[in-house]
Amino acid sequence: ARTLMIAGNWKMHKTIAESVQLAQEIKLGANGQTKAEVLVAPTFCALHPVAQVLDGTNILLAGQNLFWEEQGAYTGEISGSMLRAAGASHVLVGHSERRQYFHETDQTVNKRIKAAYQAGLTPILCVGETLLEREQGRTETVLETQLGQGLMDITPEHAQRLILAYEPVWAIGTGKTASEEQANQAHAFIRAWVAAFFDRQTADEMRILYGGSVKPENAKGLLSQSEVDGALIGGASLKSENFLGIMRAI
Ligand code: 13P
Repeated sequence: ARTLMIAGNWKMHKTIAESVQLAQEIKLGANGQTKAEVLVAPTFCALHPVAQVLDGTNILLAGQNLFWEEQGAYTGEISGSMLRAAGASHVLVGHSERRQYFHETDQTVNKRIKAAYQAGLTPILCVGETLLEREQGRTETVLETQLGQGLMDITPEHAQRLILAYEPVWAIGTGKTASEEQANQAHAFIRAWVAAFFDRQTADEMRILYGGSVKPENAKGLLSQSEVDGALIGGASLKSENFLGIMRAI
């Protein structure tokens, strides 16, 4: 059985002080309260202070992105080893907002995935179709491309540590969540793809998180779907009562 993961993507929200406050509330609320793995992804500058708050707990810490070079003249970027040194064990890669606003492509996603492994980080690869793509019936083609290109040349050993997140773009920050059936169906498609690309066991063990307007009210239904192994939460992760509410829903 796969261990559920409840992950909060704080996006570009919260100062260091606010991040520390939220981390403290989650730490108190989550303590021994959930069977799920809990993860938070604060802004880069809040990573280390939040790591200090979470020290000694089993709450995991992730960066929201990374650059593929180790170091150098790359103004504004951050490397995997820097994230590690700040206390992160995981990193989001290919979030739709990165693709949409920062011209992330499947090729750069692939470089970042490899850099994450190189640095000893566990990548959480985000994939998902836009509304237009869904309406055109292209959801599966889009997922196939994002996965195939994003995971190009990833070794089977590395794939065993991979986490995937299905985040339909039309459900992110819109209040419109995918129905339980839509989510489960997309996850099943992704898992079958993983089985074909890697192998059955890797597919059976891989966590596939759902993201897109997850809130305490809809979490139970989504998380009880057989193919849904957790949630990647934006808006509702910014208030501890909502984030903890989602945790308690499972
Ligand atoms: P919302 O939960 O705000 O829809 O965001 C989802 C998301 O993008 C998580 O990475």
